[in-house]
Amino acid sequence: MSEVRLPVLPTTVIGSYPRPTWLRRMIKLWKSGKIEDEHMKEAFDDAVVSVVRDQENAGVDIPSDGEQRRDEMVEYFAERIGGFKFYDPIRIWGNAYFKKPAVYAPLEYKGSITVNEYLFLRTVSTRPIVKMTITGPYTIADWSFNEYYSTKEELAFELSKIINRELKALEEAGAPYVQIDEPALTTHLKELDWAVEAINNAIKGVNIKVGMHVCYGEYSRMIPYLDNLKVSQLAFEFANRSFKDIEVVKKFPEDKELGFGVIDVHNRRVETVDEVIAGIKKVLEFIPVERLYINPDCGLKLLPREIAREKMRVMVEAVNRLRKEIRKEGPVIRLPQPNLKQ
Ligand SMILES: [Zn+2]
Repeated sequence: MSEVRLPVLPTTVIGSYPRPTWLRRMIKLWKSGKIEDEHMKEAFDDAVVSVVRDQENAGVDIPSDGEQRRDEMVEYFAERIGGFKFYDPIRIWGNAYFKKPAVYAPLEYKGSITVNEYLFLRTVSTRPIVKMTITGPYTIADWSFNEYYSTKEELAFELSKIINRELKALEEAGAPYVQIDEPALTTHLKELDWAVEAINNAIKGVNIKVGMHVCYGEYSRMIPYLDNLKVSQLAFEFANRSFKDIEVVKKFPEDKELGFGVIDVHNRRVETVDEVIAGIKKVLEFIPVERLYINPDCGLKLLPREIAREKMRVMVEAVNRLRKEIRKEGPVIRLPQPNLKQ
């Protein structure tokens, strides 16, 4: 395995990014049968090129593909795993609809879900490390109807086997860094015990860097359970409360890195560079700089694209100023040897 040394305070994104307006219009036409699949594929590819360019132009060290191909984070995976069917869309917020999946038969891994996304991103990005995101087993279980397994716990464990195969497929494709997204984790704290075990099962035998993102919740109540979690990084939201309860990281597991959220994704006001610097300085009182990555709180998907760009630029500028004071080397990420079987 070769490796890549990142600059101190590596900057990255959580994953999702606003779709270009033209892409949204094309998807509508495609769904109504007016555009052929191969043209839609070309449009998705071009959208990834443009959102990776946005991130790299802003100076982000570790870009994602902006999840341009995914309408919704659970639906996208459930559509590609055997054993799911879908009910009519339900309204989740505003005008957004979610086709709620239901498990009706034994789950089956039908082949890789995100490997092609990774391979395309890799050809498009000029950065040495890119980030892939996948939805975690607990969140898929929590947001689905369970009409087959006897308990939600059993369903989550079956899903963890599928996600394990997907992580291994990404490793074989050469993906160095994957983030498991578990936004549902804070909604049922009583289930954290077994949810952590399900996630550990998903990463068993996986030798690449795996982080986990959890949207804002009661981190203070969650953190004690996360000691046993085998991921090496936790990405949390802090900007949306103006870094107020940052002291919660005092109890943060010492073997893990913190992906520190410095950009509020639910507010269109663009942060100032000084605000971001102040937040990072505050967290540095509790976590050594070697264990910090800098990212927005959550996916930027719901922001207007020009605001997303501007927020990333501010994040990077804040980090660049801090790097002039903190003259240290950044963390190292190992690159797995691609081993693609055709
Ligand atoms: Zn989030």
